[in-house]
Amino acid sequence: MRVTAIPAFRDNYVWALHDDRSAILVDPGEAAPILAWLDSHHLKPVAILVTHHHADHVGGIRELAARHDLPVYGPARESIPGRTHPLAGGETINIEALGLGFQVLATPGHTLGHLCYVGQGALFCGDTLFSCGCGRLFEGTPAQMHASLARIKALPGNTLVYCAHEYTLENIDFALELEPDNPALLLRFEEVRALRGKPSVPVSLSTELATNPFLRCEEALVVVAAAQHFGTPLQPGLEAFAAVRRWRDER
Ligand code: ZN
Ligand code: FE
Repeated sequence: MRVTAIPAFRDNYVWALHDDRSAILVDPGEAAPILAWLDSHHLKPVAILVTHHHADHVGGIRELAARHDLPVYGPARESIPGRTHPLAGGETINIEALGLGFQVLATPGHTLGHLCYVGQGALFCGDTLFSCGCGRLFEGTPAQMHASLARIKALPGNTLVYCAHEYTLENIDFALELEPDNPALLLRFEEVRALRGKPSVPVSLSTELATNPFLRCEEALVVVAAAQHFGTPLQPGLEAFAAVRRWRDER
């Protein structure tokens, strides 16, 4: 199985899992670049996986589904155009054309029905986790997002994280405010800068655990940095997470 990033809009990635004939598309936000890519690689789309209802993740579904007969998996509790397979999290789905299975994780926070898909050592996490960042809390609470990120943290460290946006450099800029001396973060900064705009994802979960402040809210230095910023003592964990998220929002 190969995974290819199809760029969409300004900074979205539509992930395509494929062999030489068939492709699964994750979060097809706009149809045109996907149809062009499928065409040039002579691939047939066989399934769509949707993480959440935002337009930049679902905008291309109708056109793809009009041209191809394919299942559309997505959160049951959100309005997803063309959805054929509603999911709540906890299911396993099988895409037979490619012989691939995925575990479905409920990860509310960015939206209330947000799902992640885990399989073949990969995590397709939509707008829940970004490299060195996490999604804004448009619908959920800090407690929901903190619990969702804990679910992701429990996956094997060698899991490759496929985020839906290229936000890494601006996220690192913020992460360095919290942990200016974190060697793993400084190394990641150098690596991403050297990419000069090429995709910085996928990234291993172990790298994220060492660099992403939203996954590091139990770490003393992160807790202290947030407490100093807000001038108030903070408990490690959820309380620190909520403060770091608010700091990022206000920045
Ligand atoms: Zn979103
Ligand atoms: Fe998005």
